[in-house]
Amino acid sequence: MQTPIYLDYAATTPVDPRVAEKLMQHLTLDGIFANPASRSHLFGWQAEAAVEHARKQVAKLLNADTREIVWTSGATEADNLAIKGVAEARQGRGRHIISALSEHKAVIDSLLYLEQKGFEVSWLSPRASGEVAVEDVKDAIREDTILISLMHVNNETGAINDVYEIARLAKQYDILFHIDAAQSAGKLKLDTQVLEADLISVCAHKIYGPKGIGALYVRRKVDFELPAQIHGGGHERGMRSGTLATHQIVAMGEAFEIAREGMSDEQAKLQSLKRVFLARLEGVAGIEINGDQRNCVAGIVNLSFPRQEGDVLLSALPQLAVSSGSACTSASMAPSYVLKAMGLSDAAALSALRFSFGRFTSEQEVTYAADTLVSVLKRMA
Ligand SMILES: *Cc1c(COP(=O)(O)O)cnc(C)c1O
Repeated sequence: MQTPIYLDYAATTPVDPRVAEKLMQHLTLDGIFANPASRSHLFGWQAEAAVEHARKQVAKLLNADTREIVWTSGATEADNLAIKGVAEARQGRGRHIISALSEHKAVIDSLLYLEQKGFEVSWLSPRASGEVAVEDVKDAIREDTILISLMHVNNETGAINDVYEIARLAKQYDILFHIDAAQSAGKLKLDTQVLEADLISVCAHKIYGPKGIGALYVRRKVDFELPAQIHGGGHERGMRSGTLATHQIVAMGEAFEIAREGMSDEQAKLQSLKRVFLARLEGVAGIEINGDQRNCVAGIVNLSFPRQEGDVLLSALPQLAVSSGSACTSASMAPSYVLKAMGLSDAAALSALRFSFGRFTSEQEVTYAADTLVSVLKRMA
């Protein structure tokens, strides 16, 4: 079988060769491999310096202080740490949390766990555009609200939430604000000097770094200490224990620096690929675009084919590596809960495919993908 074209960058990206090179320089005896917490020898000092350099690279993308970056195993762990940590620290003030039905499972499942522990969650529905409206957030605020947790960019539709405005709102009501920015870091501006969020989850593997490494930004000027969820040794100023993964961290730093430097060019390229892709589908019957393309990240296009079954369509497209719904729920044939929350019918939600483009996608691949899709649809009509 011919190797399919990879159009699933929102699930994970391949590691950039420059990042892989860095990672490999931090594994073997002739590299910088040591435990950054080893204070008694040169190997440890070098590893610590490498980790602290990477911390600067990650902090710079967020325009943050290095003391605000806590390494985690990924965005899932960062979401857990942020949400469970705030719940624990602030439960004396109240037990109400605002979030949305369109969040990633890492946020949803953390909140469902808290609901079992007696916390109350207001689950907002996104609008048909995919965006959670700021006024809906405002309407949900109560006396006892301690946390708002909303993503920046949705992983299925690419819809962008107005986190800058929501941050202002949260601040006005003295509520902590957590952003899951796994899909926006390195793609949209995330300037913590302007964006006054308290906690931001990021990871490496959505922007050409390795899987298994991420970070939580924790604003320094907040009157609370984030309680650890993983104990043992007191690493990361007590917020997250465990030997730091020198090679992963260095690679994440490199990935973040490359992303920051190339951000506007890369987004412009992806926007133009999306235009080419959508232009070739224009006028073809039986295709619906999900979400509002005027408020959508460049690399993601979510389409429904209500006349088709999603899994039948997917198996008719072996040339294209795309995702039905989100990768995390694609093991089961339930309609995408994100699209359902946006008000799509079962037929539309069940037949949805997510195409996501990235750094190594060419215009030729995008036109091939669109043309293949059109011919398959015509054959199945
Ligand atoms: C990928 C993703 C996550 C999970 O990140 P991991 O690093 O894979 O744990 C969380 N939230 C969103 C929005 C994502 O896209």
